[in-house]
Amino acid sequence: MDDVRNLIVIGGGPAGYTAALYAARANLEPLVIEGFNWGGQLMITSEVENYPGYADGVLGPAMMQDFRRQAERFGSTFLTDDVTRVDFSERPFRVWVGDDEYRAEAVIVATGATARQIGLESERTLQGRGVSYCATCDAAFFRDKTVVVVGGGDSAMEEAGFISRFASKVILVHRRDEFRASPIMVDRARANEKIDFVLNKVVVEVLGEGSVTGVRLRDTVTDEVSELETDGLFVAIGHDPNTALFLDQLDHEPDSGYLITQGKSTETNIPGVFAAGDVQDHVYRQAVTAAGSGCAAALDAERWLSEQRHAAVSAGLAVS
Ligand code: NAP
Repeated sequence: MDDVRNLIVIGGGPAGYTAALYAARANLEPLVIEGFNWGGQLMITSEVENYPGYADGVLGPAMMQDFRRQAERFGSTFLTDDVTRVDFSERPFRVWVGDDEYRAEAVIVATGATARQIGLESERTLQGRGVSYCATCDAAFFRDKTVVVVGGGDSAMEEAGFISRFASKVILVHRRDEFRASPIMVDRARANEKIDFVLNKVVVEVLGEGSVTGVRLRDTVTDEVSELETDGLFVAIGHDPNTALFLDQLDHEPDSGYLITQGKSTETNIPGVFAAGDVQDHVYRQAVTAAGSGCAAALDAERWLSEQRHAAVSAGLAVS
């Protein structure tokens, strides 16, 4: 049983690294399988100004380097690759990266969520240079500027309203003339005199060299192409939790796929498997809330492991 670890953390974002930090400090020597593209959503953010402790702001990727280094300092080890399969049906739990199998008494799933992208090359090029997926994070950079928000759901309405506190003008672009958003959210956006609606349009190109200067639109009814000048583009077309690997084993919300945790804890339906961060939170979705949740998962895992050891000792069994 020597190759059975105490804890595997799956995911290398704020939740995963914070879970690893706390677990390492509890002498659990966690293995963090952090993903090939470790760092999570912060890697496509530029300046982060709302993470407590960074009074002067910090670049998203630099912040994730700090998180990772802090977890490493206390003995976390990292595997920079993607988990390809898990088996939580019995303990020790099994986690694969390709053909390599890793086993652990407890697992924390912190694989996060991915903001949906429109899927344009120009969108990718200008990420963090005017293209954003988080109004809470980036709206303040657009004081007295014009901003386009794409989407027709509650997020788009809410983000348009939030951005309008800073921007001089917000143009909400939606691909239909009906909204998925709840009527009250649409009414609120319509009543906001800084927000204009451009309907039946999709963004087909983000314009600008080095920073966003406009968007090219295509009319979804007439196919007509037009351009809009803008200083920023907020893509608010939803998020997808990164849960495909777990759906057959962990309870999740039927439509969205977000993992379900019990009450205020990070426990999943399988004792010993915990979920932290955006993978189980579609409400707050902030680096700081994800980090808090990662901390909670490490504390939950540590308590659970120690209960298992006590139970094993009481039963007269030797457990490593
Ligand atoms: P959502 O409800 O899935 O809406 C996504 C929107 O983006 C839809 O209008 C969709 O258009 C559009 N869209 C999707 N893919 C697109 C693409 N490739 N190009 C252009 N447009 C695209 O996502 P959400 O707004 O993030 O909301 C997610 C959940 O959180 C919902 O349950 C929502 O109620 C909840 N939420 C609640 C609040 C609140 O109550 N304060 C705030 C935020 C979110 P179609 O409609 O044409 O499909």
